[in-house]
Amino acid sequence: MSKNVYAPWREEYLLAPKQKRETGCLFCRVLREKRDKQNLVLCRGKLTFIMMNRYPYTSGHLMVAPIKHVGSIEKLDETTWFEMTCEARRAVAALKKAFHPHGINLGMNLGRPSGAGVPGHLHIHLVPRWSGDTSFMPVIGGVRVVSVSLDTTYRTLKPLF
Ligand SMILES: [Zn+2]
Repeated sequence: MSKNVYAPWREEYLLAPKQKRETGCLFCRVLREKRDKQNLVLCRGKLTFIMMNRYPYTSGHLMVAPIKHVGSIEKLDETTWFEMTCEARRAVAALKKAFHPHGINLGMNLGRPSGAGVPGHLHIHLVPRWSGDTSFMPVIGGVRVVSVSLDTTYRTLKPLF
């Protein structure tokens, strides 16, 4: 079942020396920097923003996060939570329009043991799925096929937000 696949973006992350990995909060840095294109930010809302995952599981892997640095879902105010879910819904529509996925995983990893890469700053993941994309590299858990480059994905999605 497993085929050889190549996911250069994730490999870069997985193989990077620990000290070269992000320190501090990725989301807060991206919001501060105001270099949205380089940082793959697709849109900024009033309370939330949407960005692409630089190390995607599949093409079009997006994240919706609050602008406020909040790590506990139960501490997030309802207005922000509402905007997050509405933005996630808008992102689903954009992904469907752009890439015609057969399905989309939508979810959150709360806390590091659940898989959260940035546990201090809540975010909803959207991972488009295509039938037949189930091959994976079991040796390096989490590496999946990424068939469209980040740049192309960004240019395709940007006008939809
Ligand atoms: Zn943050």
